[in-house]
Formats: sequence, structure tokens, C-alpha cells
Amino acid sequence: MSAAQRIWIKSPLYVFAPDQSQPVTGLIVNQGKIETLLFNHDAPASPCDEVFDASGLVILPGLINTHHHFYQTLTRAWAPVVNEPLFPWLKTLYPVWARLTPDALHLATQVAMAELLLSGCTTAADHHYLFPQGLDNAIDVQVDVVKQLGMRAMLTRGSMSLGEKDGGLPPQHTVQTGEAIIRDSERLISQYHEREAGAQIQIALAPCSPFSVTREIMQESAQLAKREDVRLHTHLAETLDEEDFCLQTFGMRTVDYLESVGWLSDRTWLAHGIHFNEQEIARLGAAGTGICHCPVSNMRLASGICPTLDLIEAGAPIGLGVDGSASNDASNMMYEARQALYLQRLKYGAEKITPEVVLRWATEGSASVLGRTDIGVIAEGTQADLALFSLDDIRFSGSHDPLAALILCGAERAEHVMVGGQWRVSHGQINGLDLPALLARHRAAASKLIAG
Ligand SMILES: [Zn+2]
Repeated sequence: MSAAQRIWIKSPLYVFAPDQSQPVTGLIVNQGKIETLLFNHDAPASPCDEVFDASGLVILPGLINTHHHFYQTLTRAWAPVVNEPLFPWLKTLYPVWARLTPDALHLATQVAMAELLLSGCTTAADHHYLFPQGLDNAIDVQVDVVKQLGMRAMLTRGSMSLGEKDGGLPPQHTVQTGEAIIRDSERLISQYHEREAGAQIQIALAPCSPFSVTREIMQESAQLAKREDVRLHTHLAETLDEEDFCLQTFGMRTVDYLESVGWLSDRTWLAHGIHFNEQEIARLGAAGTGICHCPVSNMRLASGICPTLDLIEAGAPIGLGVDGSASNDASNMMYEARQALYLQRLKYGAEKITPEVVLRWATEGSASVLGRTDIGVIAEGTQADLALFSLDDIRFSGSHDPLAALILCGAERAEHVMVGGQWRVSHGQINGLDLPALLARHRAAASKLIAG
């Protein structure tokens, strides 16, 4: 993923860089990385191949989504679950999702990633845990899409191994044996996981949740992740139903369970992380376990509010995630950052939850949750992953502070997006993608999936 061209991004309106004491007035991108930050309207010291006029544009680091289920774009706003909380929502959807095919997953992944990209997202994590018969190569299907769109992804090899007959939530025909899960995880790591800075594709291991996997698969995944030096991901402490399940099934609360299976570490990041007590927050912070805050999903399913600032104070990194499209139902990182600001203000007050705070969660915080330091921040030497927003729209008219305007006026679509020095979105359109044709096929696949 390298670009040979040296590009001068000239005269932006505002650049969201870590040090705001001296405004950045230009960037030089070279070989896919940010080579130089320019100040005081200086011109580059040596010639560039391309000059990109960024006047009037606000530049953010490419946004990073740390939790999703791409396949769920096929079951957005489906009437039977519109008003359901997590457990009945899942039980109604599992049989529908079990009919997922490779073609449908390909379309769903394209739509989810394209929607994220248009919102300024350049790196996305997906949690795919459905491997019904015929869909053994689900992650391989997703790898194809990531390469086609030229984004970065943390594809997590999810799993479900605790079916209804053994006291779990998912129907029996959607679960796999531990042996099949571990074998495929090993294959995916050796085939796709890139370890160096600038990685396009990484693999993590992601048993779905305490109520859908066995204790053994949690332990074996932790051991494999340690052996292969890859990350671990799961859903945890999303609802009180889940807490009750853990108490009844394992005789312990969620964080005790996490620790008992070898997961309480900085290799792990958790989706949601809502129902923690003070002592659990301290333990997660001490371990450096990352938390992906998913405000829209948590509001839609009425799950609760993640204690973000308490977790950060304890030492746990916080990132943002849109979560699956059956519980959001959008895949838009700017929309998510805006909702994070409003939801977290209800918990912590207006002064502490600023536009800068939520945008940092969506970029640097998310990078840290994924274990990366090469993305998520505009600095010399980091990857040239950039999201450029225009304020030339009715919703921004009369606004003053450009960064606050993005969040408070509700920016939803980036004007230009660069990944690794390559323009993937230009003038609001994804380069090389026939979006109307994709959406027509995706809508047909969605109808077919529901029809059965
Ligand atoms: Zn999820």
C-alpha cells in the first residue's frame, strides 16, 4: 500500500493535529506517509508532483472504527426487531443471519465499508462470527473487499461455540466446534496478518460473547493470540441480561470471567463495556484493556452508557465503533462521534466532553484500541490516512469554529479521503466504485435474506 507521489496538501482551513499551539498550514505526503507538516503558510522546501488545494477544508486523521458486523447491513431497520432489547433482538435475528451466503456477505461488506469510507473512515474493524455451512471462507471474502476499496481493516475471526442445547443463546446450526474455529484462526493469521507499520490487513481472534461461546474457546483463543502475537476482541458488559447470564452460568461477573479465561490484558479490546463497577474499571485500566464505545447501538438497544472517562482515568484506552448495522443502523463514523458527544455529556457534563475529545476517541483512541501507533494522528512519519471535510453546506452556514462545526452541525460525509497516500474518495465519490449498481444488488440480497 504505497504511493510514490509526493503531494503538497496546501492551505487547509484547519488541521486536527495533536499540538494546537501552532496551526498546521499544509502537509506533504510522500511514499504513503505524512512526510512534513508545514506552518506559517510556508511552501515545501523541494518540489512536489502534485499540489492539492485544500482551502476551505477541515482535515482530520482518517477515522478508525473499532467494532462492526458488516453483514448486518442486510438487516437494517427490520420491523420485527426495531423495538427489541439485545437478547430477544438476537434470538429473532440469528435464524435470518444463518442464511448468509458468500455473495451476500461480499455485498454487505462492500456497502458497510463504502459507507464508512464516505464518512471519513480509513480503517475499520469487523467482528464476523457467523460461519454457517458454505460460508467457511467468510474472512477471505472480506479480505477481497478491503483490497478492492483500498482501506485498512482489522478483520476479527469471530466464533460461536455454545448453542442452545448447551445453554447458549444461538441456535445449534450456527455454532462451530472449537477445533474448526482454532484451525481456521491459525490459517487466517498465517495467510493475511500483516505485522509491520502501514499494515493494510490484520487479523484478531474474537469469540462472540460470554453467552455464545464456551469457556474452552475463550481460553484457547487467548493462548493462540499470545503465541501468534495477535489481538483479542469480544463483546462484554453490554447489558444486565449478560451479567445475569454470567452469574448463573459461570458463577461470576463479566470481568471475573474475562480474567478467568486469560483475557484481562492489553492484548484485548472489548465492545461496549457498559456495566462495570468501580473495582472492575480499576482492573481493566491496570491491565490496559481497550474499550470500544458504541453510543448509537447502546441507545438503540437501551443497553446503558459506557463509563468512558472513568475507564480512561483508570488507564484503559477508549475508541469508537458504529457496531453492527442491525443495531445502529448506520455505518457513519462522524455521526457516531456526534452521538458520543451528546450521550457522554449526559453522563459527564458539557465541559469535559468536547468535540476534540470525541474526535480523539474516533482517531488516536481507536488506533490505540487496535494496538496501532502508525495511524490515527496527523504527525510526521505516520501513515497518510486523511479525511477532508468541506463546510460549504447549508448545515454549516453561520458556524464559526471549524472543528466544533463538524460535530455540532453534523458533518456526515467527507469531501475527500486519502488512505496511505492514495485518494479513495474525491468530491464525495468513491473512486472506482459504481455505488448505484452496488446498492441495487445489495438491496436485492437483503430482501432475499429476509424472505428465506
Ligand atoms: Zn457488536
